[in-house]
Amino acid sequence: MDKIDVAVVGAGPAGLTSGIYLGRARLKTVIFEKAIAGGQMAISEWIENYPGFSEGISGQDLSMKMREQAVKCGAEIIEDEITGLKNPDNIFILKASGGKEYQAMAVVIAAGAVPRKMNVPGEEEFVGRGVSYCATCDAPLFKEKTVVVVGGGDTAVQEAIFLAKYAKKVYLAHRRDRLRATKILAERLLANKKIEPIWSSVLTGINGDKKVTSAVVSGRKIECDGVFIFAGIVPSSRIVKELVDVDEAGHIITDENMNTSRKGIFACGDVRKKSLWQVVTACGDAAVAAVSAQYYVENLKGTAY
Ligand SMILES: Cc1cc2nc3c(=O)[nH]c(=O)nc-3n(C[C@H](O)[C@H](O)[C@H](O)COP(=O)(O)OP(=O)(O)OC[C@H]3O[C@@H](n4cnc5c(N)ncnc54)[C@H](O)[C@@H]3O)c2cc1C
Repeated sequence: MDKIDVAVVGAGPAGLTSGIYLGRARLKTVIFEKAIAGGQMAISEWIENYPGFSEGISGQDLSMKMREQAVKCGAEIIEDEITGLKNPDNIFILKASGGKEYQAMAVVIAAGAVPRKMNVPGEEEFVGRGVSYCATCDAPLFKEKTVVVVGGGDTAVQEAIFLAKYAKKVYLAHRRDRLRATKILAERLLANKKIEPIWSSVLTGINGDKKVTSAVVSGRKIECDGVFIFAGIVPSSRIVKELVDVDEAGHIITDENMNTSRKGIFACGDVRKKSLWQVVTACGDAAVAAVSAQYYVENLKGTAY
């Protein structure tokens, strides 16, 4: 079984930042990633609120830069999913999807989150056939078409503005009578002639045959080709739910040093219970989690000073 000092689960901004700090601390660090390095950041079209990039930067570019930096600092990235985690006798055994097991002295959970489903009729049926959770991935498929965006927070508003570059018409269905998004984004959306907000409205169904043909929004049938849903996130905490305390939504509870309720397991980023899930806060959490993990491992090894 491969032995590592710190296993990091997830290579989003939180996992990659942990890798930067742990690599620089000269600890044997492996970051496990089941999909693509960058996580949700990699599917963000343009990021304008991460410091250091005054014109903004594409989510993909920022992901590449963070990945490169983590590797340069000494972290190894293994493309595999962690499917199980056990904690016998002060050590951690991580099981990967292929069945291979790894032994680690500490674990940083940076598994992030996935989009929340609305569970309305037609949603599941038309995923990939008009229903999407990622405008960056799918917007070009809706050139000169009509789409409905659901949500009113930063992500929904940003993605609606991006979709309007391609689509001829974008409806934004939001359950409140004003946007929850940051003011600068809300102003941009309201100034965009292609976007029509439908206030105080709820998506109740999606219809189609081979592809989406309409959406039902508070009883109104809207002919459309696509429905983009941005209804929040669900934390990817499944592998640790039995080991650490989580809140009712599944977010891992930590203290200010990113310690979870179990010694040796640290959590950072969108998987953690907190008030703002963003790239910059994921990176901030991750720096703290990594340093806490570093002290924990060094104490076990007797190399702390
Ligand atoms: C469309 C969109 C636009 C956004 N725009 C912005 C923005 O402009 N500015 C901003 O600051 N934030 C933005 N965000 C939010 C930001 O992307 C997230 O807050 C941030 O990516 C969270 O980082 P993370 O590392 O905690 O988690 P994630 O980015 O979710 O990364 C977690 C990673 O862990 C991997 N993983 C999960 N489970 C396992 C497992 N068991 N084994 C191995 N790997 C696993 C996942 O595949 C994923 O790559 C946006 C999000 C979206 C979806």
